[in-house]
Amino acid sequence: MLLAPVEYARPSTIEDAVRLLGEHDGARPLAGGQTLTNVMKARAAAPDVLIDLNDLPELRTISRSSDGGLELGAMVTLAELIRSSDVGDARPILGEVAAQIADVQVRNRGTIGGNICSNDPTNHLPPVVAALDATMTIRGSEGERTVSAEEFFVGVYMTAVGPGELLTKITVPAAGGAGDGFASIPIGRDGTCICNAAATVDGGQARLALGCVAAVPVILTSAAEEAAVREAVKGANLDPPSDVHASSEYRRHLAEVVAVRAVQEAAG
Ligand SMILES: Cc1cc2nc3c(=O)[nH]c(=O)nc-3n(C[C@H](O)[C@H](O)[C@H](O)COP(=O)(O)OP(=O)(O)OC[C@H]3O[C@@H](n4cnc5c(N)ncnc54)[C@H](O)[C@@H]3O)c2cc1C
Repeated sequence: MLLAPVEYARPSTIEDAVRLLGEHDGARPLAGGQTLTNVMKARAAAPDVLIDLNDLPELRTISRSSDGGLELGAMVTLAELIRSSDVGDARPILGEVAAQIADVQVRNRGTIGGNICSNDPTNHLPPVVAALDATMTIRGSEGERTVSAEEFFVGVYMTAVGPGELLTKITVPAAGGAGDGFASIPIGRDGTCICNAAATVDGGQARLALGCVAAVPVILTSAAEEAAVREAVKGANLDPPSDVHASSEYRRHLAEVVAVRAVQEAAG
């Protein structure tokens, strides 16, 4: 199906992008367009104006922060995450998980910012940034604020990025002595996740984020041992959705399985 008529702007500064977003009630940022253009074609979204972020080089940078962590511009593509030696040195899990997403076209166009701003509960990266305890920088006409993953993911397809605002940066802390892991049960190879989990293990303690089982990643902490992880997942009283791929009960079972696998990978 063709796109409905829509106005289009391609600002060359973040200030202009924020101003344009604030000026039009029905404006939406356009990143890689891998989700947005599809939902527009399906008439599930009908923005009046698309504010294309592709001419904002400040949003495309990957750099190391002073503590050895990562500062990832929101427009860094999945392919750039995979190729980046900084990502590979600091938190390789980001590139390893990006490499599992869909296909080459999606990875070449799709961005980390678009992936987490969509907050599709089946997406790969929301649980990863949540487990890594990343913080998200949001720019609006009033200035800049930084929020934790707990505050960022608000509901299905909803985040703390409000109308007139832009996600500009994802800051990932240095690993220190921590290890990271990710496990999923996808629909076929490189398919949509039925259930997924990301974990960071540091000094025998795991920080876990479960995907596909609730509107937002479910963040848990536990000792990094199988029995403790299973107990933590059970204790979260998950009530995941049922669909054609898995009943709620089966998804609850898968959540324990992927949580244990992610923690085991993170623990090395
Ligand atoms: C066939 C197919 C299969 C896919 N399978 C998977 C999968 O299995 N797992 C997975 O994780 N992903 C999957 N994706 C999604 C893909 O990985 C992209 O992450 C996703 O499409 C969004 O990234 P984008 O850059 O294209 O964002 P867009 O489509 O351009 O934008 C998505 C949403 O985020 C908003 N947005 C984007 N950037 C910003 C910003 N900086 N600030 C504020 N709002 C912003 C937009 O307004 C829009 O609402 C799939 C996509 C396709 C087309």
